[in-house]
Amino acid sequence: MEVLAFRSKVYFVSANVPVDYIPKVPPTKWYTHSLVYQTKELAGKILEDIISPGDTVAIKIHFGERYTQCYIRPVYVRKIVEKVKEMGGKPFVCDTLFSGGKVLHDEGGEALWSRRDLEEGLKTAAMNGFTPETMDCPVIFADAPKGLKSVEFDVNGRFIKKVYIAPAIAEADVLLSVAHFKCHDVMSVGGALKNIGVGCQSKQGKWWIHHNTKLEVDWEKCNGCGKCIPACPTNAIVLSEGKAKIIPEKCIDCAFCIDYCPTEAFISRIFPDVLEQESRIGEAAAGIIKYFRGKCACINLAIDIVPLCDCDPFVGIPIVPNLGVFASKDPVAVDRACIDMVNNSPGIPGSMAEAAGVMERGAEKFNAIARLRWKATPGAAHVAPDWRVMLEAAEKAGAGKQDYELIEINFGYSPRNSGNKP
Ligand code: SF4
Ligand code: SF4
Repeated sequence: MEVLAFRSKVYFVSANVPVDYIPKVPPTKWYTHSLVYQTKELAGKILEDIISPGDTVAIKIHFGERYTQCYIRPVYVRKIVEKVKEMGGKPFVCDTLFSGGKVLHDEGGEALWSRRDLEEGLKTAAMNGFTPETMDCPVIFADAPKGLKSVEFDVNGRFIKKVYIAPAIAEADVLLSVAHFKCHDVMSVGGALKNIGVGCQSKQGKWWIHHNTKLEVDWEKCNGCGKCIPACPTNAIVLSEGKAKIIPEKCIDCAFCIDYCPTEAFISRIFPDVLEQESRIGEAAAGIIKYFRGKCACINLAIDIVPLCDCDPFVGIPIVPNLGVFASKDPVAVDRACIDMVNNSPGIPGSMAEAAGVMERGAEKFNAIARLRWKATPGAAHVAPDWRVMLEAAEKAGAGKQDYELIEINFGYSPRNSGNKP
């Protein structure tokens, strides 16, 4: 990993276009100013000393959910796939299954939390544009078919002692995180660290991001109906004195049983404090980075920087204008570079940036907006998320560093790059 003695390098391609580029570029070169083209070349830049011919490359993205709008546009991923192939790698595009065991449907049959299930999840991926045909490579859930198996790897974090890497990701030679960078109402920001620390783990790993104890049954609430027993894939639930009881040694923290209980008797839904969750993500990301021993890189697309995450069908309007694409071998640095540029950008009128009073350049936007959302969410504890906690935990655990060097780059025509002028 390129965590240098000094600062980590973060490459940046701006979404902006110089006003004079059209007259100076022949039509045959117009495409070189496309952000899609630039992203492809950026992928080559950060992967050039990582990919060896024949390497399997896991391109970890978020497929989005049903009716969501602001996940990564598929064409960016398609072009990254092409670049990986040009470099001799064997890419596959993947996501992981969501915690829990049951896809809920409304009366019209629409799926909620479709990525809990392989079939529904792949349908969502296809609806959102990610298929083997559009990507020209396999498109999979890396912990298919049920998210129950993981490759465990020890981590010496304050909170996280083990990560549970989705098997197909763990078997890859190279991990390339391709994240949509945006706000997140629980974690404040969603970028490379979240895509790796949460997104590369199977259901058990996701459990230990969001919880700090194993699941238990509240016997006051349990009526002994037994519906949870067949739902458990490891036979970890037995009836004792007419009540359900979990055998901890058999339990793999998949959360399947919760969805089948009519009385909401499972009680480890008590999440740790949100700041502890932020630390857990940072530490888990560090563990996964270490597992790949330097064969890991990150691309953040800071486009459609909306206030909410890629699972949400209601994301609002972007808080700042599109910035561009950031890439680095250091997930901490790439997230920090995105955060800094967003905070140094002007807010968009009418967006949550205005509602939070953080329109001016230099105003911290993510925590301010997350705090506002947190307060507006019924039943949520009023604990303010803080991205700094996640980045500091990741840095302390060895995922990378927040001290970075931003290198603006343009692979096509640029006024600063006369060598590429026609
Ligand atoms: S008891 Fe444990 S293993 Fe069984 S369904 Fe519940 S969380 Fe999963
Ligand atoms: S499904 Fe719920 S109420 Fe029924 S036995 Fe299991 S824990 Fe008890």
